[in-house]
This record gives sequence, C-alpha cells and structure tokens, in this order.
Amino acid sequence: MSNPKQPVKYTKLFINNEFVDAVSKKTFPTINPATKEKIADIAEGNAADVDLAVEAARAAFNRKSDWRKLDAAGRAKLITKLADLINRDINILANLESMDNGKPFSQALLDVDRAVQTLKYYADWADKYFGETVQAPAPLVSMTRKEPVGVVGQIIPWNYPLVMLAWKFGPALATGCTIVLKPAEQTPLTALYVAALSKEAGFPDGVINVITGYGPTAGAAISGHMGVNKVAFTGSVQVGKLIMKAAAESNLKRVTLELGGKSPLVICEDVNLDEAAAIAHDAIFANHGQNCCAGSRTFVHESIYNEFVEKASDLAKQRKVGNPFVEGIMQGPQVDAEMYHKVMEYIQVGKSEGAKIETGGKPASTAGYFVEPTVFSNVTDDMKIAKEEIFGPVQSILKFRTLDEVIERANRTSYGLAAGIVTKDINKAMKFAQEVEAGSVWINCYNAVILQAPFGGFKQSGIGRELGKDALENYLETKTITMRIADVN
Ligand code: NAD
Repeated sequence: MSNPKQPVKYTKLFINNEFVDAVSKKTFPTINPATKEKIADIAEGNAADVDLAVEAARAAFNRKSDWRKLDAAGRAKLITKLADLINRDINILANLESMDNGKPFSQALLDVDRAVQTLKYYADWADKYFGETVQAPAPLVSMTRKEPVGVVGQIIPWNYPLVMLAWKFGPALATGCTIVLKPAEQTPLTALYVAALSKEAGFPDGVINVITGYGPTAGAAISGHMGVNKVAFTGSVQVGKLIMKAAAESNLKRVTLELGGKSPLVICEDVNLDEAAAIAHDAIFANHGQNCCAGSRTFVHESIYNEFVEKASDLAKQRKVGNPFVEGIMQGPQVDAEMYHKVMEYIQVGKSEGAKIETGGKPASTAGYFVEPTVFSNVTDDMKIAKEEIFGPVQSILKFRTLDEVIERANRTSYGLAAGIVTKDINKAMKFAQEVEAGSVWINCYNAVILQAPFGGFKQSGIGRELGKDALENYLETKTITMRIADVN
C-alpha cells in the first residue's frame, strides 16, 4: 500500500515519553529527494534539548526505577511488543522511509521487516546472557555479573534509518540500558514514528528519547555529554573521529563506531560470468550505492575482464531508476543535494583521471537527486574513485592477474569493513577469506549481513561489532563479585 503523500504525524522531539518542541523553538525542513519538495518541518534539537533527554534517560536508569526493576523477561516482552507494533504499521513506516530517504517503497518494506526481525532477535537475547563463576583461591568465592552500561547515546545515518535504529535499540534495550537517539537530519521521520510506538508498547518514561537535529549541535552534545555512559555511532570516518575525541575529552564514555569502507570484491577466472556479474552489480548498486559495505572495488581477472565489463554495463543499463513509489523501480534518488553533488563530482574526477565510462555518468532526471547507474572500466589503484568512498551508484572495475597480488591490493586501504570473492575454488576462497583485512568476508555472495553474526570493521572502518551476540557486550559492564565464606568445599 504505497502512498507518496503519507501524512506526517510526529515532528517534535520525543523526551520522557512526550513529544515536545525544541527549547529554542527552532525547526528544520526534511526534504523528499525524489521531488526536492519539503515534507515537514522538524524540531531542531540542540544541547539544551539533549540535556533534558539525558536527564530523563538518567532518571529512567536510576536504582529502583520501573525500568531497572523490570526483569529480563519483562524487557523481552516490551521489545517484542514494539516489534509487533512496527510490523502492524509496516506500510506507514515504509511510506515515510521511502519519502524521506528516496529508496524504492519495495526496499523500504524490506527494511521495516528487517527492523522487526532485529528487535525480535534481541528480545530473545534478553534472558540468555550470563556472568560466570570464577575459580577463586579458597576461602574466596567469586562470580561475574553483567550489568547495563547505563544511558547510551546513539547517533545514526540516513542510508538505512530504521534498520540502523533497530541495530542500536535491540541490544541496548535487551541489556537494560536507556537511550538518547539522534537520527540523521536527512531522515528523521521513521525514528519519531517508532518513538510514538514505543510509548504505545508501554516502555516507561525516559527509557527511549529521540532528539532530531544536526550533527555538530545535537550530535556533538550527545557525544560530549557527561551524563552519557556510552555512544554508538554509524556514519563517516571523519565524524567517528570527532566522537572518540569528544568521548575522551568528556567522561571517557564507551565508544563503538561503524564507519565507511572501500570494500573489494574479487571475481576469479573460473566463475559463471552471468552469476558473477549479477553478484558484483548488487554488491555496488544496492541502496543506490549508499551502503557502508558496498563492493565498491570490483577486481576482475584479466582473462575474463572484457567480457565481464560488457555484462556489468548491460546490467547497469537495465537498472530502472525513477519515482520510488512506482512498482519495478530499483533505484530512487540519492538522499540529498550534498550527496548528489558529491557523487557527480566523483564521476567527473573518474573521467579526468582516465577511467573509461561504459555506461551512465549523468543525472538521471532533474526532478530529484537522481544519478544514472554508472560503470567505469580501466580503473587503477591510484585513482581517487578506487581509493575514496563515493557512496553512490558507481561501479569501478579493476583488473588483476594473481590471487596474491589482488589480496595485497585489496588490503592497501585504510578501511576494512567487508570483502568478497566469487570463485568455484575453495582453496582460493579460503585463502582470500583468511588473508583479507575485513570484518565480513562473503564467498559467492555479497551484502549478506545476517542478524545472528557480528558485523563491523577492521582498521578505520570502525571499533566494535554490532549484531549477533557480540553487540550485547557493547552495552554491558562486567562486575566481579568476590566473597569470603567460612567453609569452602
Ligand atoms: P555523517 O557521519 O556526517 O553523519 C552521520 C550521523 O552523524 C548523522 O546523524 C549526523 O547528524 C551525525 N553527526 C554529524 N556530525 C556530527 C558531530 N560533529 N558530532 C556528532 N554527530 C555528528 O555522515 P553524512 O554526512 O551523512 O555522510 C557522509 C559520508 O559518511 C558518506 O559519504 C559516507 O561515506 C559515510 N556514511 C557512512 C555510513 C555507514 O553506514 N557507515 C552511513 C552514512 C554515511
């Protein structure tokens, strides 16, 4: 039930279970990138509002608060209820996401479903993590206990607004933390809607707070706040570094970062070319290239290079670009004017550095921020388009000769988020998987991010892991309790 004119019900900050104006009364517009039209004016939170949200989250985390008194099964019940309500309103949420972000409605539906599955997965974890008993020297008995880290700040990007929210909310709520979330300024709508659902689900006051606004004001106030115990961030490397610095200069809050990438996908000479081209196509063009783990360096063996390039550009030509609410559309607009210009600039740089445009390279329409699916061949390692994250629908195809050489080149980057290889040879696949420097390695598939497995980056792609059991640790402190007893047996 797609509806490009979905009414927007929630536009204010969500603090202590109430929607309120920003203290400054300021607002900012959120824009539909498919039309460049304003969707709504949203409350623009800043440091004063973050103070109020942190105060509410601290009160909700106090000893004896309703939330602290709730046991694990109680938390699981509330998280499951929230997941069910999101699922109940799947069409509304997908409409809002598609309008605000520009992704096709069909993709937005899948995103909402992924958010539901993520929350359910973490609801199940709430009563399944434990401390340990320790082999202490007599007459001591010792044990560890896992406790929630406290008030957590969560700062998320615009590429998968709801999915990112769920990745952050799930483990934080399962472990009993309280939350101050800041969605990206480009895509505030679904986070506010979920905030309303969290109240309906019955979360106590102050457990979930959502502050909409800009990074250098609202975001920086969260990462530098003395009352925030941990900050979880997804976004650019540049801002990730600011977050760590703010954490260090304030209260040494715990920091986890999920940042960008320039991930290699290696296509060996033994592959079925149609299959390999399709995997490589989805690896880069999924979500309009706005994907932190996008396979943005396609390395192809020299013996199949020309044939592969032809198939890759055929696939890009077939990709349907247009109004996200029209059925069959595979690619909508880039998220905003800034990202659109950034991508168009990289395309110019690629041309001027000598890469060959096989297809695309131009705006796909001027009605919104649409970019033609673009394929570059003859890309070499020294080119900017092979080194920097473009975050757009631009495939760069490079040539390689041997596996050792391509592993060396794949690793020659400050990033290390993901990597992929397509081959029928298990020895090649496992050699690559073991020697490539990346947090996720996909063999004969790509972008296969699964809830149950950890996801995160080596090197400057991040710190810590989200998803799977690992994500719980981000939100837990370990307490050692040791006692002396009269008789030890
Ligand atoms: P960004 O890092 O600027 O923004 C991400 C989030 O951080 C937003 O909520 C933003 O408001 C907030 N933020 C910005 N400045 C901040 C500050 N000083 N303190 C605290 N929070 C702050 O990302 P962007 O500008 O939206 O995109 C730029 C680049 O980031 C992209 O081109 C891409 O390379 C990368 N990116 C990566 C991901 C990812 O999933 N890893 C997602 C989006 C963007």
